Amino acid sequence: MTATRPKPRRGVLDIAPYVPGKSKAPGVAKVFKLSSNETPLGPSPRAIAAYNSVAPHLHDYPDGSASDLREAIGRAFGLDPDRIVCGAGSDDLLHLLAYAYLTDSDEAIHTEHGFLIYPIVTLGTGARPICVPETDYTADVDAILKAVTDKTKIVFLANPNNPTGTCLPFDEIKRLHQRLPAHVLLVLDAAYADYVVRNDYEAGIELVATSDNVVMCRTFSKIHGLANLRLGWMFGPAHIVDAINRIRGPFNVSGAAIAAGVAAIEDVGHQERSREHNTRWLAWLTEEIGKLGLKVTPSVANFVLIHFPQTKGRTAQDADAFLTTRGLILRYVAAYKLPNALRLSVGTEEANRLVVAALKDFLDKKAA
Ligand SMILES: *Cc1c(COP(=O)(O)O)cnc(C)c1O
Repeated sequence: MTATRPKPRRGVLDIAPYVPGKSKAPGVAKVFKLSSNETPLGPSPRAIAAYNSVAPHLHDYPDGSASDLREAIGRAFGLDPDRIVCGAGSDDLLHLLAYAYLTDSDEAIHTEHGFLIYPIVTLGTGARPICVPETDYTADVDAILKAVTDKTKIVFLANPNNPTGTCLPFDEIKRLHQRLPAHVLLVLDAAYADYVVRNDYEAGIELVATSDNVVMCRTFSKIHGLANLRLGWMFGPAHIVDAINRIRGPFNVSGAAIAAGVAAIEDVGHQERSREHNTRWLAWLTEEIGKLGLKVTPSVANFVLIHFPQTKGRTAQDADAFLTTRGLILRYVAAYKLPNALRLSVGTEEANRLVVAALKDFLDKKAA
């Protein structure tokens, strides 16, 4: 039978479209958006200046190889710039990796509460996303290994993970890598690596440098505060970098993003201030929300996962509605198989204090 209209490939229409965090609280004067893990400190002033400096050149195509930015990243991390690819956000790179390495009958593994983009990019290629269980809201290496078949082509792992905030120590990542068949690509998504102060953690640079089947993705959207510009990068083996460079858009990163990215990566002081702010308020929020009697999953990133009871009037959805009336917007994470939790991004001191006060009032009020 001839189709009567164009039909996307298998899998595309099985995708549940990604729903970004809310940003509006109707009728509330002052809104605090704590739903998308954006930095409360904003970008480096130097990044803003660099961005502005590109305005007179908007008619020129950018440097398609983003050389200045790859060299700046190389200097910052001690990496060979030839093994870096930049993208329009790390989402772009995750899509490209899936597009390059997956096809119809393949499988790609992600974990139970892993980042939603992984099944989306997998389905988009016609391959099958395989979801494996976690233990204590943390990726489980044995569960991942158990799910590997002849068809497995990619393992996607966010470390730290969003929305749980948990991470695996480097030993566990190495154990996972050692037992993965050599043809399986391990994608380490280290979007929140800049926030981690635990010393048993590593983003994966060493592992990428010493193997043929590991890549690490990073983003400028979180600690660098450039989410609006769409900028990410990937470090990988030469053969994978070559494949991605063949299929990426020839100008996938704008000149404004390149300029701002160079300034941001060089402003180490701004990164340190952002990390210190986060470390301090992450601990404070975890403790204060815990004192209210709510369970908080210990986080190493710039957000916390707060668990609510299923009692009528006290649920995550009830809390979400209550907080929204006060202009405090958190992320409802049912799509991440966490229907009884809200994710809260670490905000300014003012926002953090308002959230704790509002949660206290929410729990104090008589059940509906
Ligand atoms: C925020 C985030 C990213 C970054 O996405 P961009 O496209 O770079 O903005 C990647 N992975 C995870 C797990 C994230 O939470």
